[in-house]
Amino acid sequence: MNVMTTIYNFAAGPATMPDSVINQIKEDLPSYANSGMSVMEISHRSALFDGIIDDAKQDLRDLLGIPDNYQVLFFQGGCTLQFTAAPLNLANNYHRIALLDSGHWADRARDEAQRVGTKVDVLASTKADHYTKLPVLKSLTQNTYDYLHITTNNTIEGTAYSELPDTGATELVGDMSSNFLGQQYDMKKFGLVMAGAQKNLGIAGLTIVIVRNDLIGKVKNLPSMIDYDLFAKKNSMFNTPPVFAIYTAGLVLKWLKEQGGVSEMERRNRQKSGLLYDFLDNSQLFTAPVEKAARSLTNVPFITGQPELDTKLIAQAADVGLLNIKGHRSVGGMRASLYNAMPYAGVEKLVDFLNKFEKNNR
Ligand SMILES: *Cc1c(COP(=O)(O)O)cnc(C)c1O
Repeated sequence: MNVMTTIYNFAAGPATMPDSVINQIKEDLPSYANSGMSVMEISHRSALFDGIIDDAKQDLRDLLGIPDNYQVLFFQGGCTLQFTAAPLNLANNYHRIALLDSGHWADRARDEAQRVGTKVDVLASTKADHYTKLPVLKSLTQNTYDYLHITTNNTIEGTAYSELPDTGATELVGDMSSNFLGQQYDMKKFGLVMAGAQKNLGIAGLTIVIVRNDLIGKVKNLPSMIDYDLFAKKNSMFNTPPVFAIYTAGLVLKWLKEQGGVSEMERRNRQKSGLLYDFLDNSQLFTAPVEKAARSLTNVPFITGQPELDTKLIAQAADVGLLNIKGHRSVGGMRASLYNAMPYAGVEKLVDFLNKFEKNNR
């Protein structure tokens, strides 16, 4: 590839990061804050790191409007470990949770909850529609569940909830991994939010949990590494935290603040995804299979319906610097992930490329 080609990385995660953050990391790498030590080398018990973790927590609170009666916790083990941790911490009354089956990640959450003995009732599923729609909760009048689990944005299938389901007295738990900080939600509506960092907040190795105080500390003798109450008491430093990943997330959060915060990100994500959806909807060759009302702002799957043509397109796109537009193996076709760090110019270049490809392959 020509080294002068501008690269746009449409990967679903790990995903593209803001250029300015990469440059800041480069600058800080040999000596963080004139300490003579790399951030990779500093102690998590140092004043230097205290500043990093406290700023990251406060910036998350500011950006998301997290109320004071919620904890902001940092874990390792990916969002997948939270599929285990959430039921073990929260499903302590009925030992039963409800779930809306919106695709792959909801299914993974169901599976992990069941592995630790939690009963899971799937209240609605759009499996029969190949997850091109979102499951809708009819009513939840009786509170016989410790919580209802939803995936706010379905990374693989390309759907997202813009309105949260009304769960009545039942707590709502949201896996927000792939639209965290990319779309506005009212945090007060959730008992717990979980999100892996490597989609929209930096690099793998860090997972954010935001949880209301009254929901934690009810189960004794949980494994320490997934004990929300213990992590709250230890400021997420029961053991060595992922220092570099927290530092990186901190830089992304500062960048987000400079850009205008989550409302501005949502505006841009609507603009970027709108450009691509408009093109796809008017195309003779491409189809965006997801129902309009359910479409994700951050992950856009599309197909030609001809697997060989898809393969050709993915290769030609890579040749011009449009990387990682191959769809997930379970869905096929293409997928463009348009997280916060993807500039509008990247989507313009993608649409321009798809337009030319369509003309050349009629
Ligand atoms: C990527 C993803 C996960 C899994 O995250 P890991 O950090 O790999 O465990 C869970 N849920 C959603 C919605 C995701 O996009």
